[in-house]
Amino acid sequence: MLKTAIFGNGIISELVKSYIDGKYNPTAKKAGGEEMQVLCFAGLNSSESATSVPMITVEQLFYELKTGGIQILIIPKENALGQFSFGWVLPMQGISLENVYFADRVSKMNTEDETEILDYFTPFLDTKYLGYLEYHLADHCNLNCKACEHYSSLVPGEVFTEYDKFEKDFTKFHEFIDDIGLVRILGGEPLLNKDINKYMVLTRKLYPNARIHVVTNGLKLLSMGDDFYQTMKENNIEIHISYYPPMKDTMSKVEAFLKEKNIPYFLSPLNTQFGKKQLLKPQNDDDTIAAFYNCVQKTCNNFYDGKVAACFLPFTTKYFNQYFDKDLPEDGAIDIYQLGLTTHALKEQLLLPFLRCRYCSVETEMIPWDVVHEPSTLDDWIRS
Ligand code: SF4
Ligand code: SF4
Repeated sequence: MLKTAIFGNGIISELVKSYIDGKYNPTAKKAGGEEMQVLCFAGLNSSESATSVPMITVEQLFYELKTGGIQILIIPKENALGQFSFGWVLPMQGISLENVYFADRVSKMNTEDETEILDYFTPFLDTKYLGYLEYHLADHCNLNCKACEHYSSLVPGEVFTEYDKFEKDFTKFHEFIDDIGLVRILGGEPLLNKDINKYMVLTRKLYPNARIHVVTNGLKLLSMGDDFYQTMKENNIEIHISYYPPMKDTMSKVEAFLKEKNIPYFLSPLNTQFGKKQLLKPQNDDDTIAAFYNCVQKTCNNFYDGKVAACFLPFTTKYFNQYFDKDLPEDGAIDIYQLGLTTHALKEQLLLPFLRCRYCSVETEMIPWDVVHEPSTLDDWIRS
């Protein structure tokens, strides 16, 4: 019996345990495979709900995985949504990803097909699942903040994603990743793209189980047409408003408007400060690795122009280089059309630092939020 832990401590974990006990183990035994014994659930807060097996903390989970007290970690897809990734955390703890498996969606539990039952658990790197993916509808923005992480304030003119090419590329990407926890449609400012409804419909069609957010600064929300809000509702899409000082006087009106339209939304806290962590000179190897593993943005997997990367900088650094005549690396992107690419190779590469990370400091300098005053200077972007 493989000593097994399930990540998460709610109803989903209980359902996965019941599936293992009632369906997977009898099928595995019949097929001559090894059964699983679920010893515990593991979660961020061990005092949460009562469970059918003991709850342990994440720290205890790491210890048990390292010492062999637990041999297999099962992560239900529903418990892996978002930007927290085991892909970095576990190897940093000295735990091989070969011991980690995804459990498919609860909706797939009903099958009586023995092959499908045995395939319900799939290795972490081979599973066509990402917890998080984002993509741009426009590289430019109507707010132009200093130190905008995506360099939207440095984009010359209007740069929109082109729908027909995106549809072809995203459909190709689906061959490698067919399920995502959270998709964020953003930019720049995504509401500037007049084809936004088409992107929302396509994303829902390709990823029926994903949570989908449109991330906006909110400036255009009051003037979007009814067709936009109708498409959001029909495709179960939520709005995420990143709240900046210019919206202070109108945000209550925007909130009332969205409530009246019955549109689910999330409002961030008011951003009065921005962080700068960019350097002009490369760091050494140790600092680069530390910068990558401590970097929140490495979980912002970004899809752009037929390529995917750990974060957005492989795609947007060109705007910084063009504006200031610099040559920071623009590497780190994986071309989804490259011959021989597999899901395993793609997901493995997303976990590795790349040259551009040499220019991201571990330490962030906070500055008051402001817009860029033309012409922008290096001081708007570079950490002192
Ligand atoms: S609103 Fe967001 S995308 Fe636009 S410039 Fe500011 S930080 Fe960048
Ligand atoms: S380039 Fe590397 S260190 Fe910089 S934000 Fe992206 S993932 Fe993080």
